[in-house]
Amino acid sequence: MENVKKTIVRTAKVKIFVLENDPELKKEKYKRLHDIRFNHFKAANYMMTSHVMGKQFHSLIYERAGIVDFDLPESKRKVAELEDTLYGKDGLFGVKRLACTQRDINTKFNMIPAGTRNVLNSLIDKKYKALLPDITKGNVTVPTFKSNMPISLKFANIKILENENGINLKWTLSGKNIKKGTDKEIITFGISFGKDPANNRLTFKRLANGELKFGSSQLYYDKKKNAWYLLLAINQPLMTPVLDENIAVGIDLGLSTIATMVHTGTKFCQAIGSYNDFVRVRVQMQQRRKALQQSLKMTKGGKGRKRKLAPLDRLSDKERNFVNSYNHRISKSIVEYAVKNNAATIKLEFLKGYSENEPSSFTLRNWSYFELQNMIEYKAQMFGIEVKFIDPYHTSKECSSCGFVHVELKSTDREWICPECKEKHNRDRNAAINIARSINFVTKVEQTQFYKLHKIKEKITA
Ligand SMILES: [Zn+2]
Repeated sequence: MENVKKTIVRTAKVKIFVLENDPELKKEKYKRLHDIRFNHFKAANYMMTSHVMGKQFHSLIYERAGIVDFDLPESKRKVAELEDTLYGKDGLFGVKRLACTQRDINTKFNMIPAGTRNVLNSLIDKKYKALLPDITKGNVTVPTFKSNMPISLKFANIKILENENGINLKWTLSGKNIKKGTDKEIITFGISFGKDPANNRLTFKRLANGELKFGSSQLYYDKKKNAWYLLLAINQPLMTPVLDENIAVGIDLGLSTIATMVHTGTKFCQAIGSYNDFVRVRVQMQQRRKALQQSLKMTKGGKGRKRKLAPLDRLSDKERNFVNSYNHRISKSIVEYAVKNNAATIKLEFLKGYSENEPSSFTLRNWSYFELQNMIEYKAQMFGIEVKFIDPYHTSKECSSCGFVHVELKSTDREWICPECKEKHNRDRNAAINIARSINFVTKVEQTQFYKLHKIKEKITA
């Protein structure tokens, strides 16, 4: 079976709002946006008129110079000469056509951010070139831009970020200018995704972490709604894998390997991530934290304490980043494996309920399992793959060959032989096979077998 890989450019439209706590500053920033909007469309009209009138001016001069057939060598020489008198260094305009409009808006529409002026100049040039055939034929109609024209943003000035406040858009209007004595100008926007039928939240998450790229971007003001929007051209690699409803991938998350995966129809498992890479590094970091915390207990308040707290915060950031990028790698591999094997479903154990056969507290404490789970879910979504959760009861203890449940199996038994059919098992691989096959889907703790048997609700936080 073949996977079709396409790239589509789609324009996402999301509602944005200025992120600013100070109400006065907020008002000022909105005013700035509206000022830019008004000058932006006026600048667009100015440039378009400039191009069209320049062209007419040209035609007039050529006519006066008696140039009719432009293909003649004599005409070409004359045209070059005339161009020089117009655009040459000492010519009428002094610079070439595009530099001319750029120079004009730089002086006349100085309040528009420089990046936007550049983008606007090439945008109007493109539109002008599209009109040229008509203009040469003499059908000159200069298009006019209205105040609802979207504001073009320069790619380099835009950043999509994800932080504790959610997903933000950062627009750097201008850098610090020592000569003019001006500071860096930045407007940060929050994004509201609303009901989000296009799943833009997911797309922007991927833009923020660099998984997706975007092209042109514009700000648009809707007068009726009195709301600002971001229009973003997104290059979306659209994988349209052929998915088979009968194929599921089972994932066993464990200690010796972070994830063991297998798909239905095979017993050949793949393991990704190792205990060494992951838990060891985390334990190491936690030990360092503990040591720091110990030394902090000795320092009671004061400046010394504050100074010592700093490395502790840094360490936890480092730890978080490590886990985050590790989870990104693992979730990516899992989804790629599912796509490669045409699996319509990825099955994971429901770990909110207590699994009787895993040293869960340790595993979960040392592992941002729920982060990994979320990443698998949203990456799978991009390919139309469904993520389902199954009851973890006996997934490790049941023999995947004959169905015998080996209740005496301990969590430390990595390899075991089925007492019934004598099949040799690796604990993680056997569990992955069982997970891939399982249809004991659960969505809440109360549905798990372990809960039903013990009527307890263990609160496990990852
Ligand atoms: Zn067996």
